[in-house]
Amino acid sequence: MRAKLYRFMAGRYGVDELSRLMLWVVLALFVLSMIFRWGIFSIIAYALIIYMYFRIFSKNIAKRREENLRYLDFRYNAGKKVRAKKERFAQRKYYRFFSCPTCGQTVRVPKGHGKICITCPKCRGEFIKKV
Ligand SMILES: [Zn+2]
Repeated sequence: MRAKLYRFMAGRYGVDELSRLMLWVVLALFVLSMIFRWGIFSIIAYALIIYMYFRIFSKNIAKRREENLRYLDFRYNAGKKVRAKKERFAQRKYYRFFSCPTCGQTVRVPKGHGKICITCPKCRGEFIKKV
């Protein structure tokens, strides 16, 4: 049985991060369809299942890999903001963060210096803040 499965999957794409995400979305859609009793959720979920299996059993590996890379890129870029927020939160004890009134650049300033003139590293604009 196992050997049969190996033979069947030879040359096929298999499971990747994108299909794992699809599986979670499918589960979420089924839960939503049970809560709200809207058929559209389960229709979308079934369509996603079909697409997910199509990707897993696909022999066009290059194309599937490209789709997965696009998804990973998107995930990385979406996480950038969250990581920056976390970083700021971790540094809140020693630094204050301001956004430049001219260009909007975020400027990090060490705390405990009273009222100071801050020079933006991007546009060289100056503004006064209490830190
Ligand atoms: Zn600026």
